Amino acid sequence: MAALTEIAPGVLVATSCYDVTTTTVVAGSSGACLVIDPAVTADELTGLAAELAAVGLRPAAGWSTHPHWDHVLWSRELGDAPRYAAPAAITIAETEREGMLDEVRRAAPGLDLDLVGRMRSLDAPAIPWDGPEARLVVHDGHAPGHGAVFLPESGVLITGDMCSDIEIPLLDTSATDPLGDYRTGMERLSAVSGVRQVVPGHGHVGDAGELRRRLALDADYLDAVSAGQPYRDPRLTADSPAWMRAAHHDQVRYFQR
Ligand SMILES: [Zn+2]
Repeated sequence: MAALTEIAPGVLVATSCYDVTTTTVVAGSSGACLVIDPAVTADELTGLAAELAAVGLRPAAGWSTHPHWDHVLWSRELGDAPRYAAPAAITIAETEREGMLDEVRRAAPGLDLDLVGRMRSLDAPAIPWDGPEARLVVHDGHAPGHGAVFLPESGVLITGDMCSDIEIPLLDTSATDPLGDYRTGMERLSAVSGVRQVVPGHGHVGDAGELRRRLALDADYLDAVSAGQPYRDPRLTADSPAWMRAAHHDQVRYFQR
């Protein structure tokens, strides 16, 4: 993993070698920090813990944006701070635990499986911790109980698996209304005022204009695919990972039913 980079005062991000996955750290008072979606490999989590210790930061709380295996990881070295996720995310993390563990074994061997997905349910407007306000924007769409985090003091919006510059919208096609859920999520995120930077779960940090550009791309993708029209998303190329091209074809098929 690349070293932590400060993108705003007290807000640090690092990018994993796996799927351009982003870890976010928010510095609080007295050396406490909030760790969002620490990822991905065992070596990367060990390195993250060492880097935090080196700059005098100690995880005081954790947040998982959503119940997919690459967003619910942790390591002993990060300590035993309470880790939280939205209630609907907790339900999925519990009921689909075995599948999540299989993914971790395959893609990130060496991680302590006992610590995977061990979040507490948090139904609150913000993460309880002694640091900058971390407001929650919870919605469904990509996954049940997807919880973005907005830091009003720095204007940073951490969007989990929404608003990526390298991934198309990935719908939860097992839901009753995948398209409606996803659009509602996009509306909630676009309604957050004061965003100066967006941090996606996979991809690159962007400014407010870039957030609007990604939301517009997502809307165009959803409009076309749900209407059965051909659409060339610039994020979907011959070089895209096979799983993303497969997900796109699944979504096309879903709307053709
Ligand atoms: Zn995801």
